[in-house]
Amino acid sequence: MTAPARTRTSAELIEAEEPVLAYNYHPLPVVVARAGGTWVEDVEGRRYLDMLAGYSALNFGHRHPALIEAAHRQLDRLTLTSRAFHNDRLAEFAERLASLTGQDMVLPMNTGAEAVESGIKVARKWAYEVKGVPADRATIVVAADNFHGRTTTIVSFSTDETARSGFGPFTPGFRIVPYNDLAALEAAVDETTAAVLIEPVQGEAGVIVPDDGYLTGVRELTRRAGCLFLADEIQSGLGRTGRTLAVEHEDVVPDVVLLGKALGGGIVPVSAVVGRREVLGVLRPGEHGSTFGGNPLSAAVGTAVVGLLETGEFQRRAAELGAVLREGLAELAGRGVVGFRSHGLWAGVDVDPAIGTGREISERLMREGVLVKDTHGSTIRLAPPLTVTEDELRSALASLEKVLAA
Ligand SMILES: *Cc1c(COP(=O)(O)O)cnc(C)c1O
Repeated sequence: MTAPARTRTSAELIEAEEPVLAYNYHPLPVVVARAGGTWVEDVEGRRYLDMLAGYSALNFGHRHPALIEAAHRQLDRLTLTSRAFHNDRLAEFAERLASLTGQDMVLPMNTGAEAVESGIKVARKWAYEVKGVPADRATIVVAADNFHGRTTTIVSFSTDETARSGFGPFTPGFRIVPYNDLAALEAAVDETTAAVLIEPVQGEAGVIVPDDGYLTGVRELTRRAGCLFLADEIQSGLGRTGRTLAVEHEDVVPDVVLLGKALGGGIVPVSAVVGRREVLGVLRPGEHGSTFGGNPLSAAVGTAVVGLLETGEFQRRAAELGAVLREGLAELAGRGVVGFRSHGLWAGVDVDPAIGTGREISERLMREGVLVKDTHGSTIRLAPPLTVTEDELRSALASLEKVLAA
């Protein structure tokens, strides 16, 4: 008889990963075992406020009751059909997601990178079939310091050497211009341009919010030039900035919006390309697909996510609590914080490098019971679930203040 398996400690589990797990991440040394709402608990029962929310995949917090219920109900009925057959959940998901985002059609996928890849393919096909770009000559203009995912084509137009180096040869057909620079964008767009692909707020780059008018400018420029505007709202969308989509702050409607992360409610990976019929309508059977895209479990959870966003409550909370976050960070300016950018419940905070790297600050915050993630250098990112209470948010800010003062 084998001895009953002893529960391993956090330290033992971290050590056990080392020989068997590809080392493509450098997680904080916390081993999460359960969670609910804004809180996660580690193996030893220590509790932490989650101020990262799975990079905005957990906009509704951990295990939101409405989302868990939708998933449970679907698990007991039907989980996967493949798109070889119809399933009874997909029509409603597409109808309500298109309506929520003010678009005509939905192409369901799974991960964010797949949505981006799909957007690129659709834009290229549109360029050849509708715009009349000569075969294989289509270009897509992107912004420096972008983050659109990790596939070979996507890292082909990354400007982050760590993300690119060693993974060539790269996919051609992309032009990179500085972010938040309409003149540079204008100069890069020509008759071969299928699309301009940008993040309305650059999340990974450190929550870089463009100047007022930039998104309007991109919309006007792309319309004038006869190319598409593809907005990657995978991180900025679905309530994070105080609106359903970040582009709504400027009343801009892109031709195509890429969604992911929070669309899966923190339960399953769900992404989508939503866009105008003229664009998504270029796809014919067999030209593009995904075995899991639009599966009934994903559609059920995605529909429940759309249902939460239809109430407007989460967008409102992000806007209101975003003001609390901004005020709290402003009070720390000059007291360890050398700069910050915020939009809704989302902030990139530049910490005085003399106090520590972003990683060190994140580790100290972890010991105070607050989980965040560094981005570059001495920048940390705050993106709590939109369900966070004002008290929880103030408590996280107090922990930051304490860590910066120590
Ligand atoms: C996370 C992210 C992606 C990639 O999503 P994955 O699900 O990790 O593939 C793409 N674009 C943006 C803006 C993101 O934040």
